[in-house]
Amino acid sequence: MKSRNVIPSLFLDFMQMQEFAKNPLIFTEGRGIRLTDSDGKKYIDGLSGVFVTSLGHGNAAIVEAMSSQLRRLAFAPPLHSTSGPALDLTQMLLKIAPEGVTALKFLSGGSEATEAAMKLARQYHQQTGNPRKYKIISRYGAYHGGTMGALSAGGGRERKSVYEPLGVGFIHVHPPYCYRCPFDQSYPSCGRTCVELIERTIEAEDPATVGAVIVEPISISSAGFVVPPPDYLPRLREICDRHNIVLIYDEIITGFGRLGTMFGSEYFKAPPDITACGKGMSGGYAPLAAILIRDRIASAFYGESEDNVQFHHGHTYAGNPVACAAGIAAVTQLVEDDVVGNARLQGERLRLRLVELAERFPIIGDVRGAGLLQGVELVKNRATRERFPAATRPGKIVEREARARGLLFRCGNDFAAFAPPLISTAEEIDEMVGILAESLAVAERELGMA
Ligand code: PLP
Repeated sequence: MKSRNVIPSLFLDFMQMQEFAKNPLIFTEGRGIRLTDSDGKKYIDGLSGVFVTSLGHGNAAIVEAMSSQLRRLAFAPPLHSTSGPALDLTQMLLKIAPEGVTALKFLSGGSEATEAAMKLARQYHQQTGNPRKYKIISRYGAYHGGTMGALSAGGGRERKSVYEPLGVGFIHVHPPYCYRCPFDQSYPSCGRTCVELIERTIEAEDPATVGAVIVEPISISSAGFVVPPPDYLPRLREICDRHNIVLIYDEIITGFGRLGTMFGSEYFKAPPDITACGKGMSGGYAPLAAILIRDRIASAFYGESEDNVQFHHGHTYAGNPVACAAGIAAVTQLVEDDVVGNARLQGERLRLRLVELAERFPIIGDVRGAGLLQGVELVKNRATRERFPAATRPGKIVEREARARGLLFRCGNDFAAFAPPLISTAEEIDEMVGILAESLAVAERELGMA
C-alpha cells in the first residue's frame, strides 16, 4: 500500500505514531466477527472495534437501510428541523429505554453524550430552584470521553494530567474495585464502604452544591476493569434520591445489550435519571449517540419561548438521518433477533471458559465481567494477589501474542478483556479463548512462571 509512508502524519487515538508506524494495522475489510488487514491477514474482532460493532461487519440490513436513506435525504439541520428516521428511532428507543424515560436527545459520540448529560443536570437544577447544585461527582479510573468536560469527570491520571487544570466542581471518589479494594476490605463484610463514602463526600461538600453523580455501570479503560458488587448501584440510587442529585450512567459501553440486558441499569436493577449511550446503537455503521432522560428531569425543560428553559445545547451532526437509519436497523436486530439473549448465553459460555483457563494458568488472578464483557486480571502471585512490577505489563505481552495469532481484544497493563460482537457463536467464543490460552502460555514462559 503506497500511502503507508504517510502514517506518522496521521494522529491516531492515544497513539505514539512512530511506534505504530513500525507495525501498522490497516484494515481493508470486515465480515461478521472478522477483519482483514492490508496484508490479507485475518483477525477476530474480539473487542467489537471499540465496543461498537455489536452486530458484526458487513451487516446487509444496516447497509441497505443507510444507502436507501442516503439516496432520500442525507442531512436535516437540527437547528430548526428533524427527520423521519430521527422520529422513528426516538419511538423505538423510548420503548426499550430504562424505567421512566420520556425524552431523549441525539448526539454523535460518547463524549458528546456525557458532556450533554452533565450540562443537562446542571441546567435542571438551575431551573428547579437549586442553582448552587453544580458539582459533579465521578470516580477515579473512569473514562467519560476526551473533551474538556468529559475529561474533567474522567479519573484516569494518564489521559488527563497533561491537560490540567480542568473544569471546576468535579469531585472524585474511589471505584468499587473489589479485587483490590481501595479500603482493604472484602465484600460483603465491607458494608459497601465505597458507596457509603460517596454519601459522606456529598455531605462533606454540602448536598446543596452537589448536582450529579456520573458512573459507568461497569468501567473498562486503560486505568482498569471494574465490576461493582450487585448492590452498589441500587444503593447509589437511594443516596442520589435522598440528596436530590441527578444520577447519570455512562452506558457508552454497557448499553445496547453488552451485558446481556438492553442496558446496564437493567442488569444492576437500578435506573438512572440520565443514560448516556452510543457505540452499539448503530453497530458502528454511523456516529450515533444519545442521552435518555427520565420524566422528572425532562419536564423541567418544557415551557413558553420566553421562559427560555429549553436545553441550550446542540451539535450539527446530532440526529443525522443516515445515522438514525443505521440506528433503526441495528436496534431492530437487537430486539427482533434476540441478539441481547445471545449476548447473555454466549457471555455465560465465555465466563465458563475463562474460569477453566484460570485453573490452568496461575497468571490469572481474577475472572470478572457480565454478559459479553468478560476479562481476566493478571497477577504475579495468585495467592497474595501481588502485581507484576509496573514496567512488566503482562497484558501487553498477551496483547502482542494474541494479535500475532489473529485476535484483537482489550488489554490493559494487568488485564485482558473480551467484548466481542453480540452475534458471536459458541464456536467463535471457543476460538477466541483458545487464542487467549496460547497467548497466556507464552506470557507465563516469558515471565518465568512456567
Ligand atoms: N464513555 C465511555 C465509557 C467510553 O468508553 C467512551 C469511549 O470509549 C466514551 C465515553 C467517549 O466516547 P467517544 O470516544 O465516542 O467520544
